[in-house]
Amino acid sequence: MKILIISNVLNNTINSSLYNLLGATKELISTTDSTCDILLLGYNILDVIKEIKHLKIINNLLIIDNLKIRDLVVENIAKQLSDIVKEYSHVLINSDSFGKNLLPRIAGILDIGQISDVVKIISPNIFRRYTYAGNILTEVESLHDINLLTIRSNNFNSYKEYSDKEINIKQIGYNNDECHNVKFIDMKVHNDTISLNNAKVIVSGGVSLESKLNFDTLIRGLAKKLNAAVGATRTAVEAGYISNDCQIGQTGTIVSPYLYIAIGISGAVQHIAGIKDSKIVIAINKDSNAPIFEHANYGLIGDLFEIIPYLINEIK
Ligand SMILES: Cc1cc2nc3c(=O)[nH]c(=O)nc-3n(C[C@H](O)[C@H](O)[C@H](O)COP(=O)(O)OP(=O)(O)OC[C@H]3O[C@@H](n4cnc5c(N)ncnc54)[C@H](O)[C@@H]3O)c2cc1C
Repeated sequence: MKILIISNVLNNTINSSLYNLLGATKELISTTDSTCDILLLGYNILDVIKEIKHLKIINNLLIIDNLKIRDLVVENIAKQLSDIVKEYSHVLINSDSFGKNLLPRIAGILDIGQISDVVKIISPNIFRRYTYAGNILTEVESLHDINLLTIRSNNFNSYKEYSDKEINIKQIGYNNDECHNVKFIDMKVHNDTISLNNAKVIVSGGVSLESKLNFDTLIRGLAKKLNAAVGATRTAVEAGYISNDCQIGQTGTIVSPYLYIAIGISGAVQHIAGIKDSKIVIAINKDSNAPIFEHANYGLIGDLFEIIPYLINEIK
């Protein structure tokens, strides 16, 4: 087996999912003789690679470092990557917006199938994944020579082991395959929030917050105390309390934190589809019959406008 992990650097930071992808790789290589390379994409990334230069289990670190891919417009790089991946039996990428944008393009160019949202590796060509909005867990077998896999990285342990040996570093030139149909305009980074994809703790609010001001004060306030990411239901997004990139659920982001705190959320099936992989769910709701309690490990029945200010005040 020849494995390639594709990861990215944004704002001088390596995508932290890289270490969980290494954890997935560790599971993959436990069965047979294998080699594993990392392909890192971004601009001005030489400074950040110090962090991964001595990682165990990696043979080569391939780098494409170019201004044209600084903003990770995948359209500018998909064609070149589709040539690179042909040398590998397995290609792993995080199941975030970057991975979900890039890998299907590579699959399309190569005219092969992709296996999405892998949560467990059963064997080198059998993978476990959810379908039907998280309601059915399937095991799928890949019949392709190249297995293209988007990985729900929080489902795998992070692997960070180092050796004295330095990894081979190979710079690959960008082949200037710029896509002229797509133009980068602007990127807004939410400095105050942690990415939902890699968050260990998520504080999430529903439409019951009643206003953006309440949402910011209570949900963001509690998240800040807990160093957590902020999420919301679709109804809260539609009410304008928060932007839609924070929507969790079937038509939003699928999350898998260690702790998910659902505040004033009823627990509609479309919302639950996005939180099924959470290790622990705490629900706070004034209605003891709210469906969210069926999915919660701990439930608090009461008024969020009394409970949340109390928690914010008490948590030091
Ligand atoms: C095709 C489709 C796709 C969808 N995709 C998504 C999706 O991806 N994500 C998603 O979230 N939804 C999605 N929805 C919408 C979903 O069906 C629900 O409407 C939505 O999740 C409900 O949001 P909510 O829990 O904020 O609101 P509600 O269902 O109105 O629940 C509010 C809850 O707050 C509680 N409450 C009220 N006041 C207080 C208080 N003071 N203190 C404590 N508790 C209080 C109530 O008891 C209630 O349980 C989708 C719907 C469709 C049809």
